Amino acid sequence: MARFALFGDTSRRIAEADSVAVIGLGRFGSALALELMASGTEVLGIDRDDELVQAHNGQLTQVVRADSTKEEALRQLAVDEFDRVVVAIGADVQASILTASILLGMKIPVIWAKAVTEQHGKILEQLGVTHVIYPEKDMGRRVAHLVRGAAIDYLEIEPGYSLAKIAPPAEILGIPLGRTTLRQKHGITVTAFRPAEGEWQNADNETVLGEGSTVIIVGPTDRVEGFAQLR
Ligand code: ATP
Repeated sequence: MARFALFGDTSRRIAEADSVAVIGLGRFGSALALELMASGTEVLGIDRDDELVQAHNGQLTQVVRADSTKEEALRQLAVDEFDRVVVAIGADVQASILTASILLGMKIPVIWAKAVTEQHGKILEQLGVTHVIYPEKDMGRRVAHLVRGAAIDYLEIEPGYSLAKIAPPAEILGIPLGRTTLRQKHGITVTAFRPAEGEWQNADNETVLGEGSTVIIVGPTDRVEGFAQLR
């Protein structure tokens, strides 16, 4: 009891900061939690597996062993005071759904939950989870675009609309972007660029790209893919 009270106090302090509680520290939850820490966000990590909790000790603001399907345990950890909670439990669908339902009952403003199948995702959505993510499916789709096309990196922002990092085709080098008629001709916009030697910068109509530069383009997925193929 005292142990939980102690954790509860620490969690409460974390909850007050720009913070996130991550439930489930498997490969996905762990990578997410560590990335959040790296970008300056305080993270409370929760897992029922003692070894994983030990492994994350010192790497996250606070790591606690607890079963997230027990509402009392989550309350003692002050999870109900967090604004953002991620449910990174996949394989145990029942635990994922139960956890999400408890969090919804606690009126956590922003809940992200990982789904492993369409049915799993559908149930989470029907429960009221606003951000359902499919890490494996999304990564598979992303890699498919990379394998098929010539993009260096690729992100589908929403179905049918994408962002890609590419080496610009010869036709747009050496002239201001405003004179390339990119939007009319190819349906895409160059939003940022990095010269062969230099830092990333926002692109505008006056931007002139040189050999060896890299650009970020956005637009409808088919147009982005088509443009990425140009040499
Ligand atoms: P990954 O691919 O990210 O490794 P996975 O899909 O295999 O994950 P799971 O094994 O279901 O995911 O869960 C990820 C983590 O969630 C595991 O470390 C597991 O111990 C933890 N977990 C599962 N159920 C609970 C629960 N009820 N309470 C706390 N942690 C849980």
